[in-house]
Amino acid sequence: METCTTLASRIQSLECSACGKPHFAFALQRVSECCQMPLLAVYDLHEPLSKASICQADGSMWRYQELLPLLHEENRVSLGEGFTPILNLQNLAARYDLRSLVLKDEGQNPTGSFKARGLSMAISKAKELGVQGCIVPTAGNAGVAMAAYCAKAGMRAVVAMPRHTPQAFRDECYWYGAEVQLIDGLINDCAAWVRQTNANGELLDVSTLKEPYRIEGKKTMGYEIAEQLGWQLPDVILYPAGGGTGLIGIWKAFREMKALGWLDPEVKLPRMVAVQAANCCPLIETYLGRQANSQQYVGQPTIANGLAVPRPLGEPLMLEVLRESQGTALSITDEQMVEGMRELGRLEGLFVAPEGAAVWMAARQLLSTGWLRPDEQILLLNTGSGQKYLENVAGQY
Ligand SMILES: *Cc1c(COP(=O)(O)O)cnc(C)c1O
Ligand SMILES: [Zn+2]
Repeated sequence: METCTTLASRIQSLECSACGKPHFAFALQRVSECCQMPLLAVYDLHEPLSKASICQADGSMWRYQELLPLLHEENRVSLGEGFTPILNLQNLAARYDLRSLVLKDEGQNPTGSFKARGLSMAISKAKELGVQGCIVPTAGNAGVAMAAYCAKAGMRAVVAMPRHTPQAFRDECYWYGAEVQLIDGLINDCAAWVRQTNANGELLDVSTLKEPYRIEGKKTMGYEIAEQLGWQLPDVILYPAGGGTGLIGIWKAFREMKALGWLDPEVKLPRMVAVQAANCCPLIETYLGRQANSQQYVGQPTIANGLAVPRPLGEPLMLEVLRESQGTALSITDEQMVEGMRELGRLEGLFVAPEGAAVWMAARQLLSTGWLRPDEQILLLNTGSGQKYLENVAGQY
């Protein structure tokens, strides 16, 4: 493989997402000490950095190494994650009379979902900081990805997932040598088990937004969207939001690129759409003003396992993205997701996760209400492959 000049990470500090208090970036951090809220990495974006610094020879998310928090390349734990293709869905576009409908296919990542990006980043940082093992509550994909990267790093992996999670997720964790705990309930119940089991903090808890590294891996989707579309951005991006790292991360990337001068200062950033499952849609309820926040929300299981996150810690950050981008949020039923899977399969040859199907169905709904116009460029984020969900949709093709 061709190599690139290793350039230093531009990371400067970590900032409390609630109050802005800076935290030291060169030691292991979890949530902010002031507000117990997510920490976000801050980089030096003023010192000129040209787009030419992107490592073209690296066909993974690590091509943006200077804008990632890893300090030493030898700590990189990589299985080739990221730089996934943006596919042109011309058949669906023709059927629905759309000018441009594209899909970034995160199902092509190692372990079959975009969780690979975040866990590659987090396990690399864990290795760099001398962590011996990691633990995670998961709806499925994050656990599988963590297990794979921990195996690669020679680290202990403990995964807690709901008992109803399809067998394929569980089995793949075992194949990577992880310890798996099945829990009655949803991911928040798994999180409670993790807190109890890991009360002494022996393992690094890589729960969504409870450490500042996974989101940095996820944000590379934003860099890729810009680079792959020739430094233009689509009009609208639809994202299936669980904990929300992708939504928050992509928006963070856009802001960083603006500060770096990589985007035209006049460029209009995309409207960001958060899509959830009707069975578990805490963000929608808050967005529509039906509750003050999701701290007491009770969700039900959905075939889109990754969306069953009843009380996301990053809710305020997601709402900020929706507001700043003039986006919106809506929910899709499990039945609609199956219909979307069928349509993407039959017309585009794509076997997407129910989460990915949900964003297509959301686009259809927003087109029907006029919020989306057929002449806009629409980007769907398919966050995972359908393979591991067969059990959830058995026989419904
Ligand atoms: C985890 C997951 C999501 C939700 O991602 P968040 O970062 O939690 O918002 C969406 N789709 C799939 C396939 C997932 O595994
Ligand atoms: Zn704070």
